[in-house]
Amino acid sequence: MNNISPQKFFLYARKSTDVEDKQVLSIDAQLTELREYAIREGITISAEIVEKQSAKVPGRPLFNKMMKEIETFGGNILAWNPDRLARNSVDGGQIIYLLDTGKLASIKFPTFWCDNTGQGKFMLNMAFGQSKYYVDSLSENTKRGLRQKVRMGIFPSQAPVGYLNDSRTKTIIVEKKKSRIVRLAFEKYVKGNMRLEDVSVFLAKSGVTTRTGKRISKTKASFILSNPFYIGLFKYGGEIHEGKHEPIISKKLFDEAQEMLKLRGQPERKPQNEPQPYCGLISCASCGMMITAENKTKRQKNGNVHHYVYYRCTKKRKDFKCPEMSLRSEKLDEQLSSLIKKVSLPKDWAEELNRMALEEQGNSAQSLTACAKEKEEKISSLSKKLERLLTGYLDQVIDEQDYRSEKSKLLLSKKSLEEEISTFSHKQNDWLAPPPRRKNSARRRRRRSEFVWKNGGKSVGGALRRPQFGL
Ligand SMILES: [Zn+2]
Repeated sequence: MNNISPQKFFLYARKSTDVEDKQVLSIDAQLTELREYAIREGITISAEIVEKQSAKVPGRPLFNKMMKEIETFGGNILAWNPDRLARNSVDGGQIIYLLDTGKLASIKFPTFWCDNTGQGKFMLNMAFGQSKYYVDSLSENTKRGLRQKVRMGIFPSQAPVGYLNDSRTKTIIVEKKKSRIVRLAFEKYVKGNMRLEDVSVFLAKSGVTTRTGKRISKTKASFILSNPFYIGLFKYGGEIHEGKHEPIISKKLFDEAQEMLKLRGQPERKPQNEPQPYCGLISCASCGMMITAENKTKRQKNGNVHHYVYYRCTKKRKDFKCPEMSLRSEKLDEQLSSLIKKVSLPKDWAEELNRMALEEQGNSAQSLTACAKEKEEKISSLSKKLERLLTGYLDQVIDEQDYRSEKSKLLLSKKSLEEEISTFSHKQNDWLAPPPRRKNSARRRRRRSEFVWKNGGKSVGGALRRPQFGL
C-alpha cells in the first residue's frame, strides 16, 4: 500500500451542465475545498485536472488521460466525492481495478472515507453504484413523467409550428397568429397549384422560418403538411395518440392535403402539354388505347395566331396499326354535349323531382338526428375496440407492430366520425343546396371523373368513340 509514488496526487474536479450535477458544488468551490483539504492532510498535489463533462458514459478525455498515467506510472487521486470520478460502471470498475493492482495507491475524498483495503474498496464500489443508480433513476423518472403526459394526451415535447408549450400549465396551447398561417398553408396547398417550395416560401413570407430565420426545407414543409398534430392527434414513440390540445384544421382538410401530397409526390406526372379536360377519360374505339391531346399553334401570313387543341389516339399498341385521325376539341365538345342531352332530365321531370326533394327536406332533420346517433354509436364502439386492443397488447396477445398500425387506423376513423357529427349539426339545412363551385383543380378533376362515372362512364365513352374517331 502506498508504495508506488505516494507523493504524486492528481486533484480531479468535475461538474457538468446535466441535471444529475445540478446540486453539485461549482468547480471553483471544489478546487478551493480540495486545496484546503490537501494542506490539512499534508498532501502535495502534482496536477490539477478540471473537467466539464458528464460522467454518465465512459469517454471523458481528461479522466482517461489521468487513468492512463496512473496505470503506467502509478499515483493517487484526490476528488470531492466518488460521484465526481464515475457515474458509470466502466469508469467505476477501472478505478477499483487500479486500486486492486496497486497502481492507484490511494484515493481520498473530503466527503467520503476510503482507503485501499477490502472494506474501503467495498465502500467505494457502493458509492459508485449509488451515483450510477442516481443517474438511472433520474432518467427512469423522466421517462415515467413523459409516459404519464402521453397518457393524459399531452405531447411531451416541443410543440410544432402554430402551437406553444405553456410552461405554467405544462400543456400545449394554440399560438393564434402562426396557427392561422399554418391553416392557410394547408388551404392553399390542397388547391393543387403549389409545390412544397411554394409552401415554404409562403411560410417564410408570413414569418414562419427556421430558428436562424432561413426558409424551411421542402422536407420540413411536407412534415408540417402531414403532421396529425394539427387535427388533435400526435405521434410519439412511433404511435399515434389522442391529444388534449385544440385542433387547428379539420380532418377533411388534412385528408385532402395527404391526398395532394401523394398525388404531387408521384415521380412522373403528366407532361406540360397535356392539361386537357378529357385526357385519361376516353379511350380509342379502334385499338383501345388512351386518347391524348396536343396544343397546336397556327400562324397566318397576315399575322393572326390561332391556338387549337387536338385530341388523338396515343396509338401505343404494337400489334395493331390504329387508323384513327385527330379531332379538334370543339368537335369533341359538340359530340359530348349531344350525348349528354340524351341522358339529361326533361324539364317537367326536374321540376317534379325538385318538389319531391323539398318535401324530403322537411323530413330530413329527423333522419339527420338518427344518422348522428348512429355515428355516435360507431364512435363508442371504436372506443371500446381501442380499449380491447390495448388490453390485447398489454396481455401480449397482439404484437407491437399490429397494435400500432391498428391503433392509428381506429383513431383516424374516430376523428373522421367526430368531425362528420359536428358538420351535421352545422349543415342541417343546406344539404339540398348544389355543391358550391370551387376554383380547385384537384376537386374539379375529381368531380369531372365522378360526372362521367355517374352518367355511366364506360358507355358514354363507348358511344363517343364511333362518331369521333371512326371517320
Ligand atoms: Zn387507336
